[in-house]
Amino acid sequence: MSEQTTVDFRALGLAEPLLKAIDESGYTTPTPIQAQAIPLALQRMDLMAGAQTGTGKTAAFSLPILHTLLPLSSSSTSPAKHPIRALVLAPTRELAIQVYDNIKTYAKHTHLRSLVVYGGVDIKTQTPILKTGVEILVATPGRLLDHVEQKTLSLSQVQFLVLDEADRMLDMGFMPDLKRILALLPKQRQNLMFSATFSDEIKKLADAFLNNPTLIEVARSNATNDNVEQKAYLVNSDQKQRFLVQLLKQYANQQVIVFTKTKLSASKLARALERDQIPCSAIHGDKSQKERIEALDAFKAGTIHALVATDVAARGLDISDLPLVINYEISTAPEDYVHRIGRTGRAGAKGIAISLIDEDETKYFDDIEKLIKKQIPKEKATINTASRPRTSKATSADEGWFQQPYQPAAAAAPKEVPAKPSTAKRKVVAALLGGFGFKATPQTRNQAKRGAGNKPRQKAQASDIAQAEVVEAISAQS
Ligand code: AMP
Repeated sequence: MSEQTTVDFRALGLAEPLLKAIDESGYTTPTPIQAQAIPLALQRMDLMAGAQTGTGKTAAFSLPILHTLLPLSSSSTSPAKHPIRALVLAPTRELAIQVYDNIKTYAKHTHLRSLVVYGGVDIKTQTPILKTGVEILVATPGRLLDHVEQKTLSLSQVQFLVLDEADRMLDMGFMPDLKRILALLPKQRQNLMFSATFSDEIKKLADAFLNNPTLIEVARSNATNDNVEQKAYLVNSDQKQRFLVQLLKQYANQQVIVFTKTKLSASKLARALERDQIPCSAIHGDKSQKERIEALDAFKAGTIHALVATDVAARGLDISDLPLVINYEISTAPEDYVHRIGRTGRAGAKGIAISLIDEDETKYFDDIEKLIKKQIPKEKATINTASRPRTSKATSADEGWFQQPYQPAAAAAPKEVPAKPSTAKRKVVAALLGGFGFKATPQTRNQAKRGAGNKPRQKAQASDIAQAEVVEAISAQS
């Protein structure tokens, strides 16, 4: 943690209605990205910030925007008094919704209005709210352009542009859309760009979009989170699956996302794991919306323990207390590693990221280590010869959930698996709160419980996530 975390929100000079909302959210101390970005953004500087999801980056850009717009806020019902003044672009619906939820929370004691628009839903449902006027619009690029075409919004008074997860936007091919949007915005504006990785493309994007930006990094560029313990095993490709089963058995009480490179291998692996009595599901672009929602809800509820996911499908999954990520197949794009392991160790919590490297993947792993400027400890995988062959039948109830017959999410959870791994989750949430070095207040505790307990709002989000992925992920997926 940087020394800047000792600064409190009041010292950052934020307005009272925002401090009240921050307090009610249970935040006591700015995260490092907030401590760095907020004062600079309040000075109306363009920023290029290296920060992953989970670092508190949303508040880092939302709070200074809300603070600056506050004098312009109006209780009038006239739409003319509520022009779009800040545009936040996010690559996926899920992220857009998450950002919007945060902005709404921080703005709740102001008259500033916000809205989120994204594709995959009837555009007509978004138009009436747009017409009433909103100061802060969060949007996915495609749907924003749909609205522009339908003349249902005007961007002529935009003073702030935020590009969130800019690297993902480029990966998903949004550059042409971004260029079109940029051409519609007033030249005089403040730009804030956030990206987990800094590739040459990102630097080019920054050159095109930002005006003499200040660079902030909460860690080294492309660095991986220090809260995540990273390790790797060297394993023959023909033994990989067996070793994975062994690992899943070893980490039987931890929920895990297992990453594969392609939709096909995600499906194949999930089927194989199911045959090994591991409660799991695949989540990727070929799955129906219903299947995705079910898989994600079951994972969040703890009835499945492994989610096998492709990079695109896992993007933006808001599972804040995920303790373990396994890279079953090493991505050929080293940036993916940073994103994958960013699924764990979020917001100060501890996490573990394990990579399984086979004979064809060592060169890709070298590239990853070059990118993150770190050597990951590697050991040879030891395959436990006593472990059951895939087709064996579970016989003993005391051997853990992985030996129990797989039950679909709708059915009762296996006996050994708590329907909600609440204790484990609570522990991680406590670590999350402790990790920022702030004291848990009653509000934080309640918030943490809400997060851990999958209350209805979270369930709704889970559905949103799955829907978002169906639309956003399919086209981009390999
Ligand atoms: P983000 O990186 O914006 O997705 O934020 C990650 C999580 O950290 C969200 O659940 C935020 O509500 C939470 N958060 C953001 N800032 C703080 C803070 N200063 N103190 C505690 N939690 C925070």
